[in-house]
Amino acid sequence: MTNEKGKLLVVGFGPGSEEQMTYRAKEAILESDSIIGYKTYIDLIKPLLTDQDIVRTGMTEEVSRAQEAVKQAEQGKTVAVISSGDAGLYGMAGLVYEVLIEKGWKEDEGVEVEIIPGVSAINSCASLLGAPVMHDACTISLSDHLTPWDLIVKRVEAAAQADFVIALYNPKSGKRTRQIEETQRILMKYRDKETPVGLVKSAYRERQNIVMTDLEHMLDHEIGMLTTVVIGNNSTFYYDGKMITPRGYQRKYTLGEEKQKLKPAQRLRSEAEPWAMHGGKEETVKAAESINVKGLAEEALSKLGTTYSENKQVSEDSISFKQTEIFEFAVSPGTANKKISSKQLLQLTEVIGEDGEVEYTPSHYFKVSLETDRAQEIVKELKEAGWLVSPVGNVIHVKACDFCDGEKRDSIPYAEELQEALGGMVVPKVMNIGFNGCGMACYGAITDDIGIIYRRGAFDVFLGAKTTGRNAHVAQPVAEGMEVDKLIPLITAVVDEYKEKGLPNERFHKFFKRVQEIQGFKYQEMPVPVIVDNPCE
Ligand code: SAH
Repeated sequence: MTNEKGKLLVVGFGPGSEEQMTYRAKEAILESDSIIGYKTYIDLIKPLLTDQDIVRTGMTEEVSRAQEAVKQAEQGKTVAVISSGDAGLYGMAGLVYEVLIEKGWKEDEGVEVEIIPGVSAINSCASLLGAPVMHDACTISLSDHLTPWDLIVKRVEAAAQADFVIALYNPKSGKRTRQIEETQRILMKYRDKETPVGLVKSAYRERQNIVMTDLEHMLDHEIGMLTTVVIGNNSTFYYDGKMITPRGYQRKYTLGEEKQKLKPAQRLRSEAEPWAMHGGKEETVKAAESINVKGLAEEALSKLGTTYSENKQVSEDSISFKQTEIFEFAVSPGTANKKISSKQLLQLTEVIGEDGEVEYTPSHYFKVSLETDRAQEIVKELKEAGWLVSPVGNVIHVKACDFCDGEKRDSIPYAEELQEALGGMVVPKVMNIGFNGCGMACYGAITDDIGIIYRRGAFDVFLGAKTTGRNAHVAQPVAEGMEVDKLIPLITAVVDEYKEKGLPNERFHKFFKRVQEIQGFKYQEMPVPVIVDNPCE
């Protein structure tokens, strides 16, 4: 045994090809006296082999590989222990340290250790798929040879729920075939079956193979020991054969235009980021007051029952994403009333002016958008003239019928109470509550997120319609003949549960499907999807 201290180089050589190896990894392999690694890996780095001693071992012999490496380094050799990808991720780095620790190794006195980072499969595979990682992501190994399966299930469940992009390592082998099936089942509880899934086999190696599929069909393709499975998050999409996860730029920028609505100085202001921890308020309140257009808009909004601080979960379509000087709101003739007087129309025309915009929406209201410094006064004037004014964005809209022109008026007070209690309330995603005054339900309450029908002195309640897409469906009947006094507390409790547990931008029907039960009402799988032409999507 020589007295001179040896060196342990723990090298991650990347996905496989020399081009994807780091400079330091190559250098380390070239400067080592001996190389220790799994047979296949030694073959992959063959072009870099000169006169190094080679120790090849089988796949399950990592411990003896690490022990041998430590032994040789203690004899004074420079030893490279090689791992594919990054040695610190399901590789040899940790094990080498553990073997050293067993021997009482200390950095000062013991052999020198250098861990050399490499391009891990999550990165190499992502690059071949497009840009699917981009945002918060995690890796999960489905190998239960060293990790209890229960723990793996917990991690899959947590990652799926938290909307991480997930790279599944060691997804399947000759013997381990059920793990990936069970994983798919768990993921389907939380994500759409159309969620993009990329399967990359042997990235940057000779037999490289890339498959772009979705959660529902991922198991129809070959998955093996050399595959990494990349599961998209809720916003991942395919475009022209590329799998892409947006980072969120579209919240602030119009990517197709050179000129941005928000000027550079405005982009980091709190009020431009209502989804942030500060809730769009705090330190910039003063700034907002000094500009004052925004201050006024904010005050006006708060009078309508929503504030920027509550507005944490709004999205692109919300007022807060628009340029600060633009004031947007919803206006309709009333909860039950569908008639607009010419005087009201004239007043609205005056408010909108020449440059404002007005749009009639499918949710029974005009959406008005205008540049103004009189937001607060406008709301006041419109309300005085009998208009119902509410915020827009991810809020609740109560859509009542006309109660046969007021003839079937028994349930109108409940509709109004509902509007009073919940109208304009901020929720994870825009939500329509349909309220129809008789069993005919001709205003289509059952096609809304929550449908309420007044029938023979009692209420029927429906939850979770999906109004768009090829698998559109009506809401599920959950209560029939409910006593009238129970309505408002029940709907409020349903909405509260959605507010509390819904994910940002998660539509109510998706939420219902994910949690499977709301206020004791069980979700039922929709039988046969109605296939419709869907040119708007
Ligand atoms: N340390 C390695 C991971 C080793 S675990 C790294 O950081 O990449 C082995 C798993 O890694 C395989 O089952 C596969 O899921 C993934 N993997 C490694 N190299 C790969 C490659 N070239 N292409 C696709 N997946 C790969």
